[in-house]
Amino acid sequence: MPQMFPESFLQEVMDKNDVVDTISRYVQLKRSGTSMKGLCPFHREKTPSFHVSADKQFYHCFGCGKGGNVISFVMQMENLDFIEAVKLLAEQAGLTMPEPSGRTDSGAAERRRLIYKINTGSARFFYDCLLSERGEAARRYITDRRLTQNTVNKFGLGFAPEGSRLLARLRELGFSDDEILLSGMAVKNDSGSIYDRFRNRLMFPIIDVRKNIIGFGGRVMDDSVPKYLNSPETAAFSKSYNLFGLNFAKSAKDSFFVLVEGYMDVISLHQSGITSAVATLGTALTPEQARIIKRMRQEAVIAYDSDEAGQNATKRAIELLADEDVTVKVLTMNDCKDPDEYIKANGAGAFHELINNAKLQIEYKISKLQEKYNISVTDEKVKYVSELAAEFAKIKSPVEREIYVGKTARETGVSADGIFSEIDRLNAASERKNRFDHASRGLRGNPSVGRLSGENPERENALRAEKTLLNLICFDPQVFQMTAASLSSGDFEEGAHRELYERLSAVRNSGAEPDARLIVAQMSGSEAAAGILIQELNIEDNVLAARELIRRLTAYRKKQKLLETVTSGDLSQSQKLDEMREYLRKEVGTNEQHEQHEQSEQYGE
Ligand SMILES: [Zn+2]
Repeated sequence: MPQMFPESFLQEVMDKNDVVDTISRYVQLKRSGTSMKGLCPFHREKTPSFHVSADKQFYHCFGCGKGGNVISFVMQMENLDFIEAVKLLAEQAGLTMPEPSGRTDSGAAERRRLIYKINTGSARFFYDCLLSERGEAARRYITDRRLTQNTVNKFGLGFAPEGSRLLARLRELGFSDDEILLSGMAVKNDSGSIYDRFRNRLMFPIIDVRKNIIGFGGRVMDDSVPKYLNSPETAAFSKSYNLFGLNFAKSAKDSFFVLVEGYMDVISLHQSGITSAVATLGTALTPEQARIIKRMRQEAVIAYDSDEAGQNATKRAIELLADEDVTVKVLTMNDCKDPDEYIKANGAGAFHELINNAKLQIEYKISKLQEKYNISVTDEKVKYVSELAAEFAKIKSPVEREIYVGKTARETGVSADGIFSEIDRLNAASERKNRFDHASRGLRGNPSVGRLSGENPERENALRAEKTLLNLICFDPQVFQMTAASLSSGDFEEGAHRELYERLSAVRNSGAEPDARLIVAQMSGSEAAAGILIQELNIEDNVLAARELIRRLTAYRKKQKLLETVTSGDLSQSQKLDEMREYLRKEVGTNEQHEQHEQSEQYGE
């Protein structure tokens, strides 16, 4: 993968895109010692464990283990492959892309581009159909929904006719049946015949922020089911990672997104000048979508349907967004079913008014609980207060919490102290749970979390020693010479460590200084490599430390070999005993020789 661009070009791309600048566009970073720190964009967390090193140009999350250089960051953040990420960064830096040499594409990117082409062809076809004789009913539907021609053009609406006409058109355009099936625009039935997925539907192209048509939503115009049909998950389309309307909403001036349920809501809101509206794609909000919202805006206004399903979806969306620290407001549309209907009945101005008066999520929750419980009944009052306490426990600002507790105390006659102690109890319980989650994540083999060694503390120690040694090798040529004299890559316990060692030796053997960024860019296990190379070690004497680390790794390796020998069936009992005696004799000798290295423990950290 990495050899697709000349090394010098990759280096230039990384030189011109500072990792701190680039990451700061997505994550708020604060200085902490020699590095920058922030809340990890790849996993949910309340305290920052995401580190960025300006010196080394890496990032690494000690919570989830994600890490790398500026290229891998853009890959992960924007959901791009290596080539696409390099292109994006090169463009941003005003660099000219080198001519591709030979096959330069990864399979997935190639498939994605093919699907974009098929989708673009399909969207044109649907649009033509809408304007043709066949599209009459669809045009009438659009007029009934009071959509203007401008809106139709802006969103690229279209009409999918009966039969398999799209299939015929795509074949005319030169796409093979396999390619068309890959795009999800056609399906194959059990008897092997292929037909259009979308028939007799109003079509909504789903466009990503880079203006690619990644899929479609199709809506019936009568009462048939399903009412909505989406493109399947393809190489180009993943429902949970996209929001309908985001391509326009991302440039809206509002400091918030309006979150709605359906395509028609988004379109109707945009037509009314509320261009910050986005919709989930026929599913409940996903954690990935919540993270996308968080990356672009501080605030979200939820305007889901007022039916029960919509209200349940609201609850879930509040949790997910609040977890991402997005300020959430909820909008109530009184008698109207959805935003589309509300605007038709009351006009765009009234909807703007609704947004301005949207309740903060906590107030929305209080009003929902007030509807649920009758607090003149003692039993219900208890439930009301304890459910509220659970909500208040999630509020971070002590002032805000104080206000709501005060309100509830006045409303219910329960003392504020009583409510506070319930909140404390709940917080203590969730704190315990967090610690437990954290610990169990550590046990599942994330080496960066905590000091909880797994089932094999000796192995954990060896892995830590390997990491420290690899870091030293990268930055100190003498340590490399020492290591090369006693260890080979096969002596490293972990695959990623072996690979990193091989890369480092290759560079050092050629007489060059390793460029840590480049090495991370080239490694398949680059996350592990970034995690190792980002560490700022506080070691006074590299040589002394390296000697100790090499000794420890050699000892560990010998012991492993002995274990393999004595558990294998190839040797006789007496041969095994000999091996063990030999091992012990050497081992005792080694220990005596190295007793002066009392401080050795610190290198394992
Ligand atoms: Zn993380």
